[in-house]
Amino acid sequence: LVSKLTSSGLLKTRGLIDGKWVDAHDGDTIKVLNPATGEVVANVPCMGQNETNNAISSAYNAFRLLVGGISSRGLVMGVQLLLCCLCRLASMPSEGNGTWISPLQYDLLISHKEELGQLITLEQGKPLKEAMGEVIYGASFIEFYAEEAKRVYGDIIPATLGDRRLFVLKQCCLFLCNPFMQQSHEFLQPVGVVGAITPWNFPLAMITRKVGPALACGCTVIVKPSELTPLTALAAAELALQAGIPPGVLNVVMGKASDIGDALLASPEVRKITFTGSTAVGKKLMAGAAGTVKRLSLELGGNAPCIVFDDADLDVAVKGSLAAKFRNSGQTCVCANRIIVQEGIYDKFADAFSKAVQSMQVGDGFSEGVMQGPLINEAAVQKVESFVQDAIVKGAKVLLGGKRHSLGMTFYEPTVISDVTEAMLLSREEVFGPVAPLLRFKTEEEAILVANNTKAGLAAYIFTNNVQRSWRVTEALEYGLVGVNEGLISTEVGLILCSPMETIDWLLKTYKMSVAKQVAPFGGLKQSGLGREGSKYGMDEYLEAINAVHNLK
Ligand code: ADP
Repeated sequence: LVSKLTSSGLLKTRGLIDGKWVDAHDGDTIKVLNPATGEVVANVPCMGQNETNNAISSAYNAFRLLVGGISSRGLVMGVQLLLCCLCRLASMPSEGNGTWISPLQYDLLISHKEELGQLITLEQGKPLKEAMGEVIYGASFIEFYAEEAKRVYGDIIPATLGDRRLFVLKQCCLFLCNPFMQQSHEFLQPVGVVGAITPWNFPLAMITRKVGPALACGCTVIVKPSELTPLTALAAAELALQAGIPPGVLNVVMGKASDIGDALLASPEVRKITFTGSTAVGKKLMAGAAGTVKRLSLELGGNAPCIVFDDADLDVAVKGSLAAKFRNSGQTCVCANRIIVQEGIYDKFADAFSKAVQSMQVGDGFSEGVMQGPLINEAAVQKVESFVQDAIVKGAKVLLGGKRHSLGMTFYEPTVISDVTEAMLLSREEVFGPVAPLLRFKTEEEAILVANNTKAGLAAYIFTNNVQRSWRVTEALEYGLVGVNEGLISTEVGLILCSPMETIDWLLKTYKMSVAKQVAPFGGLKQSGLGREGSKYGMDEYLEAINAVHNLK
C-alpha cells in the first residue's frame, strides 16, 4: 500500500514552504507509525522555529503581495502581482472575489478519496470506510466555503449626520479590478496570516474546516498537523498545489510542536491562531497569543452528556448513543462521555446498549466489516485503563469489555460500565476511548445539574419523546451543540462518519443530493473553546469588519 501511495504521488514526506517541498534544516526526522501494527509508515521532517519562521515569511509575503495591492510597491511587485493573479485566475476558477479557494480543490479531494482514506487509516487507524467518510466530510468544507466566499456581505449603516455615509467592509474585492488600474480598497479585510494547529483524530477534516474559510476569505495559512498524522495533511497540500494554489498561500510544517507553536505565537505577522486539540494546549496558546494580541479560535475538549429519559424511544436512544459514543473508537471531542439514564429505563437501556456494543467488530481498519479500530497510541490506552480502574475501585460495574483487546497493540475492547458516579474520573474528564459510562438519575432537574456540572461545554445529546421537555432541556444545557434524538451533530454529512456499514458511494450520493452542507456552526461554550467552525458563522472568524466613514463635504 505504501508503495502504491508513493507512486500515486500522494505520499509526501517533506514539509511545504513557499510552494516547495522541504526537509528540516538539520535533516532531523520523526517516524509516522501505523497504530494498528506499529509499523513505520514514513519519516517526515522534524521542523522547529527555523522552518516555521520561513513559512511565516512566505505566508506573509503571499498575503501582502496578493491582497495588499500594488500602488505603493513599485513595478517589480506589480509584475509579480499580475503574474500571480493571472496564474491564480487561470488555475482557480473562483469568482475572482479575493479568495484562494476553488471548486477544483474539492474535486481533487473527492477524486482521490480512496488514497486519502487509505492514508488516514494507515496513520490514524480508523476503519477505511469511516476514513473515506472523513474525506467526503473534510472536502465538503472546501465545497461549502468556495460557495460561501461569494456571500461575504458588508453593511451600510444609517449615519447620524446627514452628510456622512457609514460602510462596513468585509470582503477584499481587489481581484475584481485590474491591479494596474486601481486599488478598489485600502483595507485588508481578511485577518491575515493564520496559524492552524490541528489534532490527529480527524487528520483531514480538522484542517479543511479551518483552511477552507481562511482561504475563502483571502488569508494565507501555515498548517501544523499533529506529528502523529502528518501524511494526510501533506497529501491534501499536494492536491491544493495541483489545483493551482500559489506559493506561500498554504504551508505545512510539522515536528517540535511547542517550538512551532512558540514561533507562530511570537510573530506579529501571524494575526490569528486557529486550534483544535486539548484544553491544556489551548490555554497555553491563549496565553501566548496575548503578546501580539492575535485572534483565536479554539476547539477544545468536551465532556459530552448523553441524557436518556424514561420517555425516550429505546431503539432510537440506543442507536443514537452508540453513534455518539463509538465514532472513531470514542476519540472525538463530541463523543458522548457520560450516558446519563433515567431510572425507569436504565436496566432496559443498559441491556440493549451492551448488546449493540458487543456486535461491533474490532480490528485493523483495513479489514472488511471492522467498526472499531485501534487507539492512537499506547498513552491513549493507558489513559483509558487508568480511568476504568478508577471507576472499578470506586464501585462501578463492568458490563462489557473493560480491558485491552486480545489483538494486542493499542486495541481496547468496546466497554460499557454501569453505576458510574460523578466522583469517578470517567465522568469528570474526557476518556477519549471506547468506554461508555452509564450514570443513573431520577428527575429532569437532576439530569440537567449533572450534565452541566463540568468545565466543558461542547456537545450534548438528549433522547426523549416529550416535545416540551426537549426544548426545555436543550435550552438549559450549557453546550454549544445539542443533538435531540440524534447522535450525529456535525450537520448532514456527519452521518457518514458513523456509518461504516454503509457503502461510500451511497453516502456520497446522499451527500450530493442534500441541499444543506456544513450549514450548522460547530463550537463550544465554557472551557470547550472560542469561536465557531463550519457554516456561515465560520467565515467571520477569518474576517475583520472595517468601518469606513465617508464625509460627503
Ligand atoms: P492531543 O492530546 O489530542 O494530542 P494536543 O492538544 O496535545 O491534543 O495536540 C493537538 C495539536 O496541538 C497537535 O498538532 C499538537 O502537536 C499540537 N501541540 C501540542 N503542544 C503544543 C504547543 N505547546 N504549542 C503548539 N502546538 C502544540
